[in-house]
Amino acid sequence: MKDFISRNLTELYGRIAGACKQYDRDADDITVVAVTKTHPAATIMTAIAGGLHNIGESRLQDAEPKLLEVGHIARFHMVGHLQSNKAKKAVELFDVIQSVDSLKLATEINHHAEAIDRTIECYVQVNCSGESQKSGVAPEECLKLLKQINELPAISLTGLMTIGPLTEDTDEIRQAFRRCNELFKQGRDLIGSDFDTLSMGMSDDFELAIAEGSTMIRVGTLLFGERQPQ
Ligand SMILES: *Cc1c(COP(=O)(O)O)cnc(C)c1O
Repeated sequence: MKDFISRNLTELYGRIAGACKQYDRDADDITVVAVTKTHPAATIMTAIAGGLHNIGESRLQDAEPKLLEVGHIARFHMVGHLQSNKAKKAVELFDVIQSVDSLKLATEINHHAEAIDRTIECYVQVNCSGESQKSGVAPEECLKLLKQINELPAISLTGLMTIGPLTEDTDEIRQAFRRCNELFKQGRDLIGSDFDTLSMGMSDDFELAIAEGSTMIRVGTLLFGERQPQ
């Protein structure tokens, strides 16, 4: 298992380097979040031992026992949809919540972070593909939401997250990513230089995301194999 992951990691770094060369990006500007959803705590340990210091999970109830077992030895990212009534737990478990898509959720996160006297990093999730089943704020609502969340004292607003459209059409994927990058730059003008992370790109589309300005890719399947049935 360890050899399998380290081989995959070497391949991933090679492909990141290739994409950066092709699209004139600096590989040091791309952070990898290892998405360990459906995989056991041992996989998280292996990833961390392999030098992956950002770990992503998408379901709170699955993540909780694993993250408690591993301990706080990496940065934990919540990347999945989060209900407002789970904000308390998310604030306790995670360093970064990437999936903030409403003022209601942000207000809950802020409230619970204040209660334990911490500041939590958040990204706003944008639905740049317009697919109706996807969570995320609509692009035209994004800047307004950023302004509102930026007023909340216990939230440090540092980026945007998006999930690319589910299609084989690379032009369509790139267009969605490009739109997100435009919002990202506008967000930066609004919020300042702390707003520095554009989380986009997964196993199937990270090279296109790098082409369109991603600074953080979230990779599961390519590193750990197919998701385990739940
Ligand atoms: C599962 C997941 C990923 C990783 O997807 P892979 O295709 O397995 O690389 C990234 N981001 C989010 C939000 C996810 O839910």
